[in-house]
Amino acid sequence: TRTPLIAGNWKMNLDHLQAIAFVQKLAWSLKDARHDFDAVEVAVFPPFTDLRSVQTLISADKLPLKFGGQDLSAYDSGAYTGEISGAFLSALDCQYVIVGHSERRTLHNEGDDEVAAKVAAAIKHGLVPVLCVGETAEDLEKHGPSAVPVAQLKAALAGVKDGANIVVAYEPVWAIGSGQAATPEQAEQVAAQLRAVLVELIGQESAAATRILYGGSVKAANIAGFMRQPNVDGALVGGASLDLTEFSSIAQFQ
Ligand code: 13P
Repeated sequence: TRTPLIAGNWKMNLDHLQAIAFVQKLAWSLKDARHDFDAVEVAVFPPFTDLRSVQTLISADKLPLKFGGQDLSAYDSGAYTGEISGAFLSALDCQYVIVGHSERRTLHNEGDDEVAAKVAAAIKHGLVPVLCVGETAEDLEKHGPSAVPVAQLKAALAGVKDGANIVVAYEPVWAIGSGQAATPEQAEQVAAQLRAVLVELIGQESAAATRILYGGSVKAANIAGFMRQPNVDGALVGGASLDLTEFSSIAQFQ
């Protein structure tokens, strides 16, 4: 059985002071609601400049929240101005790192090879990559729902060994920030295909253990439908992860 993961991708929002206020309130709100953190994992993905403050708060107050970076470099260290090594994220106690988000793929021209190198770097540094895959509206029209996400998954995991610990996030590009989420049935259809491909890529046991999240206009009002799907194991939430009430209700979808 897979532990559901509710993840908040803050994107470029909240500075380090806003971050610690938000994380503190989120933890209180979930504790007040008697959230069972072992039953449903909750993670936040703040900007890099917030991570040290978030780490300090979470460790000092022993908050049951997980956190990670929104991206990492494919390299370990060196002359890569502006880049962040997976080693640095590990040193800050990050457990996860988002890799291949569609905004990185489109706005920063990250191709499949770079995404694959970043997945490998994350694993090398002991981080669990949250690998994002998803099709544009145009892909959907031309190739149907799963062709592009499946191709992205195969490319990203080409160098990954059996037994790898990863999370996959299916985020249709047309659903991100649009208010137009996929239907739970659409999400399930693609998630089931991705899991079938995972069997080929990382083996039966790891495929069965891998969490597949849905992302794209998730909110408190639609989370339950996604979580009822057998192959959807959580959500990667953008906009609604910045709203305390919304995000804590999403985490308490049950
Ligand atoms: P929204 O929830 O704002 O649609 O963003 C989804 C996303 O991109 C999460 O990574």
